Amino acid sequence: MASIDLTLSEEQRALRAGVLEICKRYPGEYWRDLDARREYPEKFVTELTEAGYLAALIPQEYGGAGLGIREGGLILETINYSGGNAGACHAQMYIMGTVLRHGSAAQKREYLPKIATGALRLQAFGVTEPNSGSDTTKLQTTAIRKGDRYVVNGQKIFISRVLQSDLMLLLARTTPVDHVKRRTDGLSVFLIDIRNLKGFEVRPLRMMMNHSTNALFFDNVEIPAESLIGDEGKGFSYILDGMNAERILVASDSLGDARWFIDKAVAYSNQRVIFGRPIGANQGVQFAIARSHISTDAAQLMRDKAAALFDAEQPCGGEANMAKYLGAEAAWEAGNACIDCHGGYGYAEEYDVERKFRECRLYKTAPVNNTLVLAFVGEHVLGMPRSY
Ligand SMILES: Cc1cc2nc3c(=O)[nH]c(=O)nc-3n(C[C@H](O)[C@H](O)[C@H](O)COP(=O)(O)OP(=O)(O)OC[C@H]3O[C@@H](n4cnc5c(N)ncnc54)[C@H](O)[C@@H]3O)c2cc1C
Repeated sequence: MASIDLTLSEEQRALRAGVLEICKRYPGEYWRDLDARREYPEKFVTELTEAGYLAALIPQEYGGAGLGIREGGLILETINYSGGNAGACHAQMYIMGTVLRHGSAAQKREYLPKIATGALRLQAFGVTEPNSGSDTTKLQTTAIRKGDRYVVNGQKIFISRVLQSDLMLLLARTTPVDHVKRRTDGLSVFLIDIRNLKGFEVRPLRMMMNHSTNALFFDNVEIPAESLIGDEGKGFSYILDGMNAERILVASDSLGDARWFIDKAVAYSNQRVIFGRPIGANQGVQFAIARSHISTDAAQLMRDKAAALFDAEQPCGGEANMAKYLGAEAAWEAGNACIDCHGGYGYAEEYDVERKFRECRLYKTAPVNNTLVLAFVGEHVLGMPRSY
């Protein structure tokens, strides 16, 4: 049985302190300015990479720290708790798991050490398409084998950090859906070098928050056959394998956001005096913050349970999904309590509340919508009929 440690070990506290030290050099003004210009936090991500934090989950033999998902989550949570946005760099932690588990020895030797040092950046994960959305197995991008290459055609939407990455993990159909037994078969994963790729177009999308998100177009794009990860046609199961890690890490982003909102709300409502007393003395203000603190602590327990199971290599699909759900909802609840108690100031950019409010909203929708988390729990945890 995996055991859940509710306190941080000395090493985990040191890890958090190290990340906080870096984050202190990137205050609200830094993130606010990039947000206004919709620019990538290049300097922050480079510093974090050089300090080795983004290689936390890469095994030591490939130059990483060989830490567990609990530590990976702690790094992301700390970034968001400090007022930053780990969304700029969280994907590397969960994408490289697919290479690690299913890549060939040659691919691991070639890529992991370079990802660990930051010589190569792998922050892009191309799954979502305009015509399939959450129904991944219906994706229409094809990769057809021609000799020693695959030729890729199709479109992707909402793919983040493509212009800031050297490598992208791509999911494409290699066998038409009417030629396979199950619709989950016939999809393949490729690790592709996207620098100077002929026929590949990236169109940046201006989104609600600063997330470096794009529409992608593949027009007869040729990629080497060695870019295939694992066996052709088994890509969907490889992606599913990585989803628990993704859910736990995204839950950690949300927990950091929630704690930031709560600290900010408590500080403000204790010092803002209206009608002759601090606004925090009013139950209408205080209870909303207290409620969101309760939700956040509960979400953290579920995230810690999911991480403990994951690190002990035990099944954790239900827990990872529930952690992502509870984390995203807790951050949203805390964000609302925080913006409410700030009154008009909650909408003023210089307070950072409105920016964090926009940023935290994403995790109710992506990488999977909370409605589909409910569908997962209904079907796989409770044994109810499949609803989609
Ligand atoms: C800022 C941002 C960054 C992103 N980055 C990436 C990325 O890097 N890589 C990537 O591959 N994708 C990325 N995405 C895409 C994201 O994962 C998708 O938006 C998400 O999976 C939902 O797909 P969709 O937008 O097509 O919504 P749809 O699938 O069209 O769903 C629309 C709504 O209907 C609901 N719905 C649909 N079917 C059901 C059902 N059966 N039961 C209940 N509810 C249902 C959904 O939950 C949702 O609320 C990003 C999205 C955003 C907004």
